[in-house]
Amino acid sequence: MDKKSNKEKKVGKGKKADKTSLDNTSKETEEKKESLYDYEHLLENAFENMPKIKLSTGERFQIPELDVIIEGNKTIIKNFQSICEKVRRDVNELALYFKKELGAPVTIQETSLLIHKKSKPEVLKKMLESYIQNNVLCAECKRPDTKIVTIQGTKFLLCEACGARRNIRK
Ligand SMILES: [Zn+2]
Repeated sequence: MDKKSNKEKKVGKGKKADKTSLDNTSKETEEKKESLYDYEHLLENAFENMPKIKLSTGERFQIPELDVIIEGNKTIIKNFQSICEKVRRDVNELALYFKKELGAPVTIQETSLLIHKKSKPEVLKKMLESYIQNNVLCAECKRPDTKIVTIQGTKFLLCEACGARRNIRK
């Protein structure tokens, strides 16, 4: 809490210096700074409201195996839901990722993902690995106990294990 009030003071000071100059233009700057502060504030809140999860072991995260079958021009990831559960991401989010990466329509079918394109399992595996690296694993402690929050259009990966946070590269 102390941290926060310090930050507030700092921002406040900076503002005063600008304030002595003039009306409209300085007002705009003012607003920008305001929203920058809100942004930080929102981030802090999102972070503080996260449930803390205790990890039992320090073992490395295993990339889940994809169970893929190809049928004609379609590819099915049979254990899609289970993959999503393992990486703790929403099925829609991961489906959208594959759709973008593959440039092909996808359909969620119960626990599977149907890709309307012939895709090699190795390729899908690489994509999943890359997704996990960029969107799941914490850069600091390498654990998968993270959560994505979107604040004012920017996605952040918050780590519940060590508290690290970082922007997510698009
Ligand atoms: Zn971490």
